[in-house]
Amino acid sequence: MIYLDYQSTTPLAPEARDAMLRWLDGPEGTGFGNPHSSHRMGRQAKAAIELARDRVAALLPAGGRVIFTGNACEAINLAIRGSGSGGSVSVSAIEHAAVLDTAKALNAAHILNVSKEGQCNTAQDVPADTRLIAVMQINNEIGTVQPTIDWHRKAKEVNALFLIDAVQAYGKMEVTHADMIAVSAHKLHGPKGIGALWVRDGVELDPQITGGLQESERSGTLSPALVAGFGAAAHLAKELREQDAEHVEALWTRARELFSDWTLNGAEDARWHGNLNIRRNGLDVNRLMSECRGVMFSAGSACASGSGRPSHVLKAIGLSDKQAKNSIRLGFGRYTQMEDLEKAAQEINAAAEAQGL
Ligand code: PLP
Repeated sequence: MIYLDYQSTTPLAPEARDAMLRWLDGPEGTGFGNPHSSHRMGRQAKAAIELARDRVAALLPAGGRVIFTGNACEAINLAIRGSGSGGSVSVSAIEHAAVLDTAKALNAAHILNVSKEGQCNTAQDVPADTRLIAVMQINNEIGTVQPTIDWHRKAKEVNALFLIDAVQAYGKMEVTHADMIAVSAHKLHGPKGIGALWVRDGVELDPQITGGLQESERSGTLSPALVAGFGAAAHLAKELREQDAEHVEALWTRARELFSDWTLNGAEDARWHGNLNIRRNGLDVNRLMSECRGVMFSAGSACASGSGRPSHVLKAIGLSDKQAKNSIRLGFGRYTQMEDLEKAAQEINAAAEAQGL
């Protein structure tokens, strides 16, 4: 199997796995302690959590706190629901459903336009009652990078908070200029089931999950294994950032050659190059996917629920329903081998040509 779906999730780094094992069993089975207990086993687990918190925070701005959550969806819900009520929540048209659907559920959503290139720029008004603006840093479907520093400035002008969904950017590029930042471990070679919300000092949040308030603004016993895995993955991403970026650049250059008969969706340059979202007129994506079963990639058309509806992101950048449904997304990164990319391209291109394209 060839894995080309890095936006969906990433392979667990061996270093992250190793960091987790200690907290699943540990020497003589002492690793399972509750990190919120005050005895020795609890304190050991707590120390592992605090080390991981520092490691996760090292990739985020100074002057804030890291709240561990079950995933980024939860972090985003805490940010949007917990930071206030009333007023508008202005969000880009290409946000993940975690942002879009939460703002809509509160009947607060104001949708910000996005250009054909996939950029949400600040030359547009937000409602005067906007209390929160949310613009993601790297789009998960088309990889385009958003002008978050400009949006932060705009948010300050209208006295609103600014949230960045940095799930796809965290560990790959600097994430700065925000009041809140949502991240997820499994997109940077950490385990699934653990995310975090970074909150700037001075920003207060109402807990959305009440109980023990173990994370001061979030309740629930933390999993030391998941948190330690997240910390190790963040630490590694920091160490390997340049190397990873160079590898992705080499893969991108080759991928553009291999898929030269396809049209790129979204900007070429203002983009994370580990995301190749492309289309070919008339392509039957379901047929393509069933003929290329050994390659793990995504239909560019289906939304997260797998409903088969054309992607809201591709529609927002001006593609027709047909064009959106003719699109596929290939995602690659740290552990992708060049020869695997080449093999996959050969299979995908042959299957597309067999459709007479
Ligand atoms: N935001 C973006 C941009 C994502 O790509 C994802 C995951 O696909 C999420 C949020 C949700 O992350 P999680 O799986 O941690 O809930």
